[in-house]
Amino acid sequence: MKIKFWGVRGSIPCPGPNTVKYGGNTACIEIYFADINRRIIIDAGSGIRELGNYLLSDPASNSPVNADIFLSHSHWDHIMGFPFFGPIYIPTTKLRVYGPVTYEDTIKEVIGGQFTYRYFPVRQSELSSDITYIDLKEGCYDLGDGIKLTAKYLNHPVLCLGYRFEYQGKVFCTVYDTEPFQNIFCTDPADPSYDEAIAREGQEAADLANSLVEAFFSNADLIVYDVQYTRNEYESSKVGWGHTSIEYAISSSIRNKVKQVALFHHDPVRTDRQIDELTRRYCNPTDTGSTEIFFAREGMEINL
Ligand SMILES: [Zn+2]
Ligand SMILES: [Zn+2]
Repeated sequence: MKIKFWGVRGSIPCPGPNTVKYGGNTACIEIYFADINRRIIIDAGSGIRELGNYLLSDPASNSPVNADIFLSHSHWDHIMGFPFFGPIYIPTTKLRVYGPVTYEDTIKEVIGGQFTYRYFPVRQSELSSDITYIDLKEGCYDLGDGIKLTAKYLNHPVLCLGYRFEYQGKVFCTVYDTEPFQNIFCTDPADPSYDEAIAREGQEAADLANSLVEAFFSNADLIVYDVQYTRNEYESSKVGWGHTSIEYAISSSIRNKVKQVALFHHDPVRTDRQIDELTRRYCNPTDTGSTEIFFAREGMEINL
């Protein structure tokens, strides 16, 4: 598997002189299986536009585009690039688009919502490529050619899936747009609503949910982990926003013996200089032992 990052930001694209090194595009990751010529794309943030341009222009990929696109969830930073993904306008393109659904909408309706004249000059029915939409639930799936997928619900304000791909003994996992589960009951004994038994049950439920997420990515060769905030930022004002702190992502990865961790979904206010400083603070091999930790950067490629 070759993994390539085409967009590493969260929330909104942030191009400019302060984001040249790590990139300003929102989430998009490509997995290419060279030996079987299979391509999987995770998320259609603004980074997918450049991936589309590459697929349509590079002689090495000069064949009809045929790919599986797995959307983690429907938040805008993960789907906004889809109308600008050039291959959707080419009749020979074949795409299968998977994603979790909430409420009554299918994934086709979620994507199609962008293709209305209010937001975009092309309607979904006018796309000339062959696109199949598949509503996905948590579970295990056989993607053919020896590729296995496990999809796991994460903790985010809308239904969101993490994906674990296994191929030829290697494991690649996405764990972003998620936040550690919290005890939702009152834990302050001084509060009149406090009940010791309920508080204990709430903590056990949160611990169990967190252990299931950790089991999902444990021992992976590479995981892409949400680190939108530092612990200070998270605890001061971001609890409940659906993102993980750098400190939590690193400690849970080390605890679960992950080999490589790409820290991902950078806050749009984070500058290159700040990420370099965070790298010096958090990615020192003497602190992280046998787990290699780094901040994902647009254009970065990793071979597993
Ligand atoms: Zn996001
Ligand atoms: Zn989100």
